[in-house]
Amino acid sequence: MKIAVFSTHQYDQDFFNQFNTGHDINYLVLPLNEQTVALTAGFEAICIFVNDTVNAGVLNALHANGVKLIVLRCAGFNNVDIKAASELGIPVLRVPAYSPEAVAEHAVALILTLNRKTHKAYNRVREGNFSLEKLMGFNLHNRKVAVIGTGNIGKAFCHILKGFGCKVYAYDIYPDADLAAQGVTYGTLEETLADADIISLHCPLMDSTRHLINAQTLKLFKQGAMLINTSRGGLINTADVIESLKNCHLGYLGLDVYEQEGKLFFHDYSEDVIPDELITRLISFPNVLITSHQGFFTKEAMEQIATVTFGNVDAFVKGDELLNRVSV
Ligand code: NAD
Repeated sequence: MKIAVFSTHQYDQDFFNQFNTGHDINYLVLPLNEQTVALTAGFEAICIFVNDTVNAGVLNALHANGVKLIVLRCAGFNNVDIKAASELGIPVLRVPAYSPEAVAEHAVALILTLNRKTHKAYNRVREGNFSLEKLMGFNLHNRKVAVIGTGNIGKAFCHILKGFGCKVYAYDIYPDADLAAQGVTYGTLEETLADADIISLHCPLMDSTRHLINAQTLKLFKQGAMLINTSRGGLINTADVIESLKNCHLGYLGLDVYEQEGKLFFHDYSEDVIPDELITRLISFPNVLITSHQGFFTKEAMEQIATVTFGNVDAFVKGDELLNRVSV
């Protein structure tokens, strides 16, 4: 198939070239949106990532250009209007579970860094400062951790935290019987958040979960709690979280995703003015750690993403059952 792959970087191209099963690939650095959809003329399929925009308008233009297939090289699909795609007869396929451990381990990296301040210690020691002042953390052992969403990633996260000796509590609209049998305590959202030392978000972004963390739910947090989000930025009302940090109610914040990440993440603004007031405010807090959507970014996950993406395209070409199709 002739495929336009949007929002690519060299690492995407390296893995796609290695695992291509014989398709005619065109790599574009630009994201897909209303302004760039014209570039899809002549392509049969498009491949997109987390910050490409596929709304109804973009879908109509894709359809007019003859695009027959959309493959997402990620798990989340909140950036695609699935209903509109289905009405136009364009299947949307994704990579449902490429390496849940990659994201779960990154969430743990954020926790450990925020807690034990290894990023600050690294810089201090390099400058000859061997002081321990203000580097004190807390033991994870016996701490209450609240996991919101226990699908593939949340489950891997629970397993790691159980290994640390944490008391793991969880909220999911579909509780997992295996996890419950392994000692994860399910409860309501309120019960799960109450008294938690660490809250980690692993549910998808949908209308029902948008701004799940807001001024009201933040009031349920224990003073000084740590909030970790490696799922999707829209799960958190950023302005409300900033207020909570300013009031010293929220104790720590670790983000791998951000509500307005589309215009920032995966780009180098080191010599430019950052065009976003909220993220510059967040960066100014000493107890906030932000990474730019790198939870997925391991060798194993990149191999899986490329393999499953080409498997999805091949299944479409052969007329096989589309096992990874996202349905309405
Ligand atoms: P999954 O579908 O396996 O699990 C999601 C879980 O959330 C399910 O158990 C589901 O029942 C639960 N859920 C749905 N609605 C809920 C609600 N209202 N409240 C609580 N739980 C709810 O998905 P996954 O593979 O574990 O991925 C989770 C999210 O992680 C994805 O949606 C994606 O946004 C994000 N993600 C981030 C990265 C990254 O690089 N940071 C990489 C992959 C995925």
